[in-house]
Amino acid sequence: MSRRKRPKYVNKIALERMQILFNQAEKEFSSHPERSDRYVKLTRNISTKYNITLPYYWRGRFCKNCNKFLKPGANLRVRLSGNTITRKCLECGNLTKVPYTHKKN
Ligand SMILES: [Zn+2]
Repeated sequence: MSRRKRPKYVNKIALERMQILFNQAEKEFSSHPERSDRYVKLTRNISTKYNITLPYYWRGRFCKNCNKFLKPGANLRVRLSGNTITRKCLECGNLTKVPYTHKKN
């Protein structure tokens, strides 16, 4: 793999593409869930290729195990217990736990 440096605007475009893909995934989910899953895969590919972390609000909106787009109430169950957010993917049963802390304002 080549290790040459990419100009900064490339990362910006990549991030933009990820956001567009996730917005599309959200839109298409009710009518074409298989498209949403494809968009999630594409987004993850971009994220790995350009080494960018997903924007905060899209984290936990896909399953890291089966790569499916998750929508709370449809195929995602979110529970708060103690100091952790537990997300369960209802497609494959994968559990993700994220620590939950109160933000100080
Ligand atoms: Zn899953």
